[in-house]
Amino acid sequence: MIELPEATVIARQIAKTLGGKRVGSAVAGASPHKFAWYTGDPAEYNERLAGKVVGAAEGVAGNIEVHVGDMLLSVSAPVRYHQVGEKRPKKHQLLVEFEDGTAISSSAQMWGGFFCFPAGGAGGFSDRDLGKQRPSPLTDEFDRAYFDTLFDAEVPKLSAKAFLATQQRVPGLGNGVLQDILWTARIHPKTKMAELFPRALDAMFDAVKAVLAAMVARGGRDTERDLFWQPGGYVTVLSRNTVDKPCPNCGALIRKQPYLGGAIYFCAECQPLGEG
Ligand SMILES: [Zn+2]
Repeated sequence: MIELPEATVIARQIAKTLGGKRVGSAVAGASPHKFAWYTGDPAEYNERLAGKVVGAAEGVAGNIEVHVGDMLLSVSAPVRYHQVGEKRPKKHQLLVEFEDGTAISSSAQMWGGFFCFPAGGAGGFSDRDLGKQRPSPLTDEFDRAYFDTLFDAEVPKLSAKAFLATQQRVPGLGNGVLQDILWTARIHPKTKMAELFPRALDAMFDAVKAVLAAMVARGGRDTERDLFWQPGGYVTVLSRNTVDKPCPNCGALIRKQPYLGGAIYFCAECQPLGEG
């Protein structure tokens, strides 16, 4: 499971580093994983990919999408590059060896999709298809007018976290990047959307755009790894790296709580609950 900034950064690195390389062999599903998904039989991946050349790549929601000949490889897990002669990981859900001796591998974290299907065909998995249909928050098409169209009858009952980080309402915005977005907007993750004043919604929209763009510009977050297995240059304000440390804005200690199937981090001073 990865999110939009890292999917975008890794896809750009793949296009630059792997573009033009020819696949020697591919192995999918080598290590069993309860929550790893494939297109059809993973044993067919070698047949689908061998001899084909890497083309364009892009981040789509939380997926790294790479054209390989007539196929599209869509991976929602970190992808790691291996130099000639470098040891490959023992466990992996996907290993693609190139004819020049370099390779990439990918392993599921909590879960991961490792899809491989004819380019132009439907992916057949809902998160990715929704991510394709909806404008990316990194594009101009995702503007304030578009953001307002997300407010349907259900939304007032939702918390800020549920609104922003579930159902792919904003493609690729997951529980990780959510934390700094809500801190920047000064909104507590549990605040109900109905309680937010218009100026808080303005701040939320601005933070979605600005924080995601900053994460991409700095090569992803410092809690995640890029294609070359280096941490990103975006220093997270709220993450496992900063819990119990002082908030850079006010000095109060950053807290962590379980909420809606994933930890939330917040500053209780900057993000008071129930005040918009
Ligand atoms: Zn604070």
